[in-house]
Amino acid sequence: MKFSAPRGTKDILPEEAAAWRRLEEVFVRQCYLYGFREIRLPIFEEAELYSRSTGEETEIVTKQMYLFTDRGGRNLALRPEGTPGVVRAYLQSGLANQGGVWRLFYFGPFFRYERPQAGRFRQFHQAGVEFFGAASPQADVEVIALAMDFLKALGLEGAKLRINSTGCKACKPAYQEALRKALAPVVDKLCEWCQERYKGNTLRILDEKRPDCRRYFGDLPSILDHLCEGCREHFDGLRSQLNLLKISYEADSGIVRGLDYYTRTVFEINQPGIGAQDALVGGGRYDNMVEEFGGKPTPAVGWAAGIERILAATEAKREMAAKAEPVIYIASAGDDVAGSAGLVQELRSAGLPVVNDPLGRSLSTQMKDAARQGCRWVVLIGDDEIATGTVTLRDMESGEQQRVKREELAQKLKQLAEQKSP
Ligand code: AMP
Repeated sequence: MKFSAPRGTKDILPEEAAAWRRLEEVFVRQCYLYGFREIRLPIFEEAELYSRSTGEETEIVTKQMYLFTDRGGRNLALRPEGTPGVVRAYLQSGLANQGGVWRLFYFGPFFRYERPQAGRFRQFHQAGVEFFGAASPQADVEVIALAMDFLKALGLEGAKLRINSTGCKACKPAYQEALRKALAPVVDKLCEWCQERYKGNTLRILDEKRPDCRRYFGDLPSILDHLCEGCREHFDGLRSQLNLLKISYEADSGIVRGLDYYTRTVFEINQPGIGAQDALVGGGRYDNMVEEFGGKPTPAVGWAAGIERILAATEAKREMAAKAEPVIYIASAGDDVAGSAGLVQELRSAGLPVVNDPLGRSLSTQMKDAARQGCRWVVLIGDDEIATGTVTLRDMESGEQQRVKREELAQKLKQLAEQKSP
């Protein structure tokens, strides 16, 4: 074998791909239920789009972007996250000028040059939503409820929501100052990463997980004690509306998220018990980005969910693969090739998923092949069936067989498929 997939990427083979497709369907259905509409965007953008929004100093921009110069000399980046591209498109397409609120969703691959490990890839996939034009906590709650419903629809019951506020331009600087003051006596003992954060966006120092540094942190001031009146009201509103909808959550002032653009609400949804990388969904409010990209001031809130992690977390993986469309196998005795080909075409035109054996093998080998492919029904055409204008229909799950008139087969299979599908 001369080639293998690049480090940090993963092939999604047919069985798993069926689970992916189901997951996408569940996601799209949930989005439609909430009135969100799909947006499909390029997977590369001007690199500056991310340095200007995600943040010059964030790991994503400094270390993880796949950067390249195209033949026209443009500096481009494979998209490391979704939000900046959606904001760009929202402005460029004129959706922003139409006013009102816009509820958008996306699904696709993203790229970050990270150290690959379980649950962390260099090409990974996200499902995400962005809600433009509403400043109220109601919009935060709507996107959070959508995320929770999405996970629930996939059978993930134990997911934990944690929320925080990162304040706004008015109150964040004073909190950063309070944090710097509290950390000043120990800053020399902290790692290089922490020291850099200390000088820049100090809030992000709270992202440090390693006990080596954390043991020096002591009792740091909480941002929740430093919010301005507007941010305090927003956070209280968020909490009371989550209570109203009976969405359980924990307020956790340690959540700051790795991106620069968040204002007010930030949140994460974790699935305990799936290993170190247990963050499934991350999101928050970014009320300044549209304006910073040249639009009118427009509040916005959204999230992104990691698909590889969701699939790893859910039993649905197996369950969903089993729900892949059941394929019908036409197994025919060697001398009825023409008849079998006609039947395959007829059933496919009737909207039924059908395969047959292109290798002219024996009936018993064809039966084994059908079982190996996980086919739900086999249509057997032997000599007797040909002579009587019938087929034998075998249910591969129960092993039951019945004779069906050939002209009634399509109808019969349709009925069976309807009974079996959820
Ligand atoms: P972030 O905006 O970085 O928090 O990403 C949102 C979600 O995407 C995370 O909660 C993860 O589920 C997923 N994610 C982020 N980076 C990766 C990665 N390198 N590999 C797999 N999933 C990822």
